Parts: sequence; C-alpha cells; structure tokens
Amino acid sequence: MAWKLEDLADSEFACECGRVHKVPIKRIRMGEGALDYIAKDMAELGLTGTPLIVADETTYDIAGSKVEQIIQEIGVSPRKVILRPHHNLKPSSWVLPNEQSLGEVLLRLPDKGPLIAVGSGTINDITRFIASKTNRSFLSVATAASMDGYASTVAPLLTGSFKRTYPAGSPIAIYAEPNILATAPLEMAGAGFGDLLGKSIALADWRLSHIINDEYYCPTIAAVVEDVLAAALADVNALAVGNPDALLRLTEGLVLSGVAILMFGDSRPVSGAEHELAHFWEIKGLAHGRLFYHGDKVAIGTLFMTRLYENVLALEPASIDWARVYAQRPSLDTYQQVVQQDFGKAWDEVHSPSWETTKQAELKRPTGELLYGKWDRIQHIVPKSLLTAEEIVAHLAKLGIPKTPAKLGIQKEWLMASIRSGKEMKPHRYTILDLADEMGCLDAVIEQYC
Ligand SMILES: [Zn+2]
Ligand SMILES: [Zn+2]
Repeated sequence: MAWKLEDLADSEFACECGRVHKVPIKRIRMGEGALDYIAKDMAELGLTGTPLIVADETTYDIAGSKVEQIIQEIGVSPRKVILRPHHNLKPSSWVLPNEQSLGEVLLRLPDKGPLIAVGSGTINDITRFIASKTNRSFLSVATAASMDGYASTVAPLLTGSFKRTYPAGSPIAIYAEPNILATAPLEMAGAGFGDLLGKSIALADWRLSHIINDEYYCPTIAAVVEDVLAAALADVNALAVGNPDALLRLTEGLVLSGVAILMFGDSRPVSGAEHELAHFWEIKGLAHGRLFYHGDKVAIGTLFMTRLYENVLALEPASIDWARVYAQRPSLDTYQQVVQQDFGKAWDEVHSPSWETTKQAELKRPTGELLYGKWDRIQHIVPKSLLTAEEIVAHLAKLGIPKTPAKLGIQKEWLMASIRSGKEMKPHRYTILDLADEMGCLDAVIEQYC
C-alpha cells in the first residue's frame, strides 16, 4: 500500500484539492508487539487517571488481559468491564451497542482516566460514545478485521430495535497485532473484506456526483480508498486461509478507510449506495430479530449496485425521451406513500423536517440537461473502481461470504424495497440509486434482479 498508516497518524497536510486534511489520531500501531506501546503512549499523550478496559468475554481473553498486564507493569491498576449479551435477537452471543451495555460501562467508569476499547465494531462504538459524552480519550485495540469503524467518529447505537448513528469522536490511538486478529473467527475477516469491497461503489458514486453535480472531490483521498480496495483484492487467497499478515493488512485497510473519513470530514469517500442498502436491511433485520455482520450486507449491496451500474452505464441519455421520463415521475405524495410503506415503522426515524422540500426539488431535477455533454466522461471515469458482478461472486465464494440476499436472511420484499427506497437512508448523498431513479430505470432493475 502506498500509504503508510503509521505515518498518517497525527498528520496535517495542504492537499492539491485546495483543502487541508487532518488526521487527529495520535498513534496508529500495527504489527507484532503493537500492544506493548500502550503504556508508553498513554504516558506520552498525557493520559492520567484510572484506565477502563471495555471488552466482552472473548476479546478480554484474547487481548484484554494482555492490555491489563501491560498497564499494570507501569504501576497503574486499570478497571475493566466485561460486556455480556442481554437480548432476544439472533445470534444470541453477540454483545449489542444498546442501553444495557452503555449503562454497564457508565457504572464502572472511574472519576478520571481514558477508556480502552478491546474488540471490534460494537465494543468500539460503545466506548467511543461514552468517551465522547464524558469528554475522555479512548484507545482502540482491534481484535478482528471485521469492519471499517475503528477510526470512525460516529457511533451507531441501538435504541429498541432501531439503530441510530450518534456523533462521537475518533480514538486517540489504534493498535492491532496479527496474531490477535488471527484468533477471531474467519467469517469476521470475510465481513471486513465485504466492507472494503463496498469502496468500489462508494468511489464510483462519489465520482458520479462530482461529474453530474459538481460535488467536491479530492483525488488524494480517492487514491487512498482506491489503494485500500486494491490491496484487499490482492489478498483474497491469503485471507481465505486466515493468513495473519493478510489479516493485518486487511485491518490496516479498514483503519485507513476510516482515516479517509477523517480527512474528508464525512463518510462520502467510503460509503455509497451499497451502504444505504446494507443499512436498510439492517433496520429490517432488527425489526425481525435478526443480526448480521455489517460487511456481509455491504458485500451483497455491492453486488447489486454493481449490476445497477452495468445497467445504467449501458444507457444512452442522448436517445432517451426525457419529456416522457419527467412526466412519469411520481408526485411527492405518491412517492412519500411508497417510501413510508417500504420503511415501515422506521420511517419516523429517517424522515427529517426538510425532507419534503428537498424531495420536491429532486423530483423536478432536469437530469437530461445535467447529463448533457458529460456522459462520455461518466462512462470513462466512473467505472474505474468497479468490478464485474462475476468477480464479486467469485471473491465472496472464496471467502465464504453469503452470495445471495436469501442466504443472509434478506427477504425478497426487503430487497425490492431497498432498491426502491434505500436512497432515503442518506437523502443528501447522491448515488447510482438516485441517477437510476432519475433516468426512470429503477423499476425495470427491480424486476430483473429481485
Ligand atoms: Zn484533498
Ligand atoms: Zn461499512
């Protein structure tokens, strides 16, 4: 990978895009012996008080106890909280980022001192949220190459059966050791790979919107994300057998993907239509008592959005009867009824006060004019990061990731609803779902693929 992750920590640079990019994470340590730096880093970063280690039973065994020992060796006694699952969802062994887990961490919180998340997505999200709310720093010890949220600044938390994303802060330091990552179930690395596979769509969506809507675009950040994707693809065979070095590289890619978010300011460079679908299915799954790996859903979302790109890029806007396309667009009321039905109870959570106004304008977008003179550029630039659907299926098969929505428990109705209304997960982010809808071809695609 051209970008050395350790060097990006605590960096700031004036970019060719005209902005200054900043990475506020002070230390990123990846490799054998990385955890040994924790005590030294805490001292250097001025983190005093009693550290609180947040883990679950498994992550405490594989890494938490080691962190505890390293801190004890410098004469500091850390506290710890071992989170356990308390819910009726399946799989029942997963700890959830819900009120119960947050409460358990709060109850153990010392008066002063940093938090140390030892785990993957959920443990980090819980810790990130509490650290942010109590104005503390937190360190992140990665235990699985399962998702790209290690460097994240937001915490998706569960209230009831709805997952809402709350603002929080990135960790002050991130650590990962290959042999710890290799103890996690292989399916977790499959999910991590799936999350990175989604970058192919995220980059395409970003470039698409840059060309059509003149949205701000940074070639440097795009290159970072492109490198991350290429490195993961080059490692498929090694990941399939759980090679520890490949798992470390995958984790580096996942952290780097989070660093791209920090440099950009939001998740635009790494999250497009594939994540909108994944989040939509997550909502549906939760309402039906089912949990899935985030990255598995992103992988399936990537597969479907790759097919959608294939369909849309094969169109010829110059020969489209735009007057007819505009006339066939639904009224705001009709559109809202469909979306509301597709989201069900979750609609209230997604619906924002400005939604009607924004939507009204979107339904009137002169897409034919906006595309005028740009189609060659779109066809040339946008597919650069895309894979073929066949390539994706082959990768998923190698890594043992579910290859069809059904295998992941995604019902046919959810799939259809997600392609129809999934873009409302993030209405302001322009993706291939928006363009396909504006070109009037979304229904045909739903019919063809669902
Ligand atoms: Zn830039
Ligand atoms: Zn993701």
